[in-house]
Amino acid sequence: MKHKIFNTIAFRLTLWFTGIFTICSGFVFLLFYYLATQTLQNQIDRELTDQASKFTAIIRTNGLMGARQLAVLEAQAAGEKLIFFRIVYPTGEVFASSRMSYWKNVHVSQAALQKLSLQKLNIFETIEVPSTRQKARILYSYVAANAILQTGIAMDVYSKFMSAFKLVFISAMGFIVLFSAVSGWLLVRETLSRVETITRTAQNISGSNLEARVQGTGNKDELDHLVITFNSMLDRIEELVKSIREMSDNIAHDLKSPVTRIRGFAELALVHEEGLEDYRHMAANTIEESDRLLDMINTMLMISKTESGEGDFTFDTVNLTDMIKGACDLFSPLAEDKRISFANEIADDIFVDADVRMLQRAFSNLLDNAIKYTPKDGMVRITAILENQTAVIRVADTGIGILPEYHEKIFERFFRVESSRTSSGTGLGLSLARTIVRRHKGDIRVSSHPDTGSVFEMRLPIRNLKII
Ligand code: ADP
Repeated sequence: MKHKIFNTIAFRLTLWFTGIFTICSGFVFLLFYYLATQTLQNQIDRELTDQASKFTAIIRTNGLMGARQLAVLEAQAAGEKLIFFRIVYPTGEVFASSRMSYWKNVHVSQAALQKLSLQKLNIFETIEVPSTRQKARILYSYVAANAILQTGIAMDVYSKFMSAFKLVFISAMGFIVLFSAVSGWLLVRETLSRVETITRTAQNISGSNLEARVQGTGNKDELDHLVITFNSMLDRIEELVKSIREMSDNIAHDLKSPVTRIRGFAELALVHEEGLEDYRHMAANTIEESDRLLDMINTMLMISKTESGEGDFTFDTVNLTDMIKGACDLFSPLAEDKRISFANEIADDIFVDADVRMLQRAFSNLLDNAIKYTPKDGMVRITAILENQTAVIRVADTGIGILPEYHEKIFERFFRVESSRTSSGTGLGLSLARTIVRRHKGDIRVSSHPDTGSVFEMRLPIRNLKII
């Protein structure tokens, strides 16, 4: 369980959120601390320099004796624990000082004096008063040619600020860490709960229940886009599963009849003791039914292969005019048998890049259907024209027609309109025809209505035979 929480995105994001928030806040605090201490120190330094200027002025008017008095008086006025003054010779020997009982452990630094004699600039030091452990700021400054003032101020305010800052820093950082962790966790949980909803929906989906959908928030944010994509994916899957189910029902239905018939013939042969001629007849029937089954299976395989871009296709320049005329000649006796008037109007010399065998098969399916689904004394008319670099072949009939809701479905494998089930067929012809034509970069569409008949339109890109 513990391990699981550490692995969650929520935990990791909260950790990041808290870490970044804490680091940023810490940085702001440190910046504030640095600026505040610098300001305080500058203020103290200014005070010390002012004192040094005072001493320079008094020495100029009253000499070193005046400075001695000033040291005592100034320290008394400000408080002897707060400030001290020492006037020393450049050698370090003390000439005069304020009362030093509190500051007795603060000595004259030889190093500072040396530095001062070299640089001739004020030297500042921050020291810790040995007995009190309190910080003090010390200034060494020339107040006359042979006199150096050593003066120091207790950094009381500074120390108070430091301890107040420490307190504020610790409590504020504690609060910030806690606040950022809690708010980060809540924020991340709120966002991720929507991801969890998607996960739960996906888990609830099974073969029998594909209706579940995730509710979007309407915020149009990234997660809403994910929800929309997820839902449309489910729509597509649902549609696909439905069509697979329908297809397998249709396959089962269409395979049942020939298998039942084959079984019937075998049973007859077993029960009746007929003559050789009858057995021959039964065997012929069995072969016929088996051939139909094989044909169906082969067509199914051919559709799958063609759809996946495989299959035995050899493309060549094909005279479509000749191909259509040839097919019409082949089907006209069939039309005559049904007293169907069979007319065609085909433009000359239409050339396409095609596998002639396959294209013939696709076109024959359209012709076969037109004659099959047109009652006696009807009409079938074939036209082929050129339209914007496209060969447009139309097969129009005055047959039973197709309801608009089936115009796309009839191109699915094994789909047959109920009203046409009395005619022989497998429901694979149109599916194969469209797959073949699409492989030729063309398409087949239908416009039809019951009673008025149907028009199947096949479009193919033509091959330009212009000599360059
Ligand atoms: P089959 O003709 O073997 O049933 P097809 O795939 O060729 O299979 O056609 C699918 C279905 O489309 C047919 O069962 C029929 O219902 C419908 N159909 C096809 N062509 C026509 C047409 N010319 N007129 C009316 N219905 C048609």
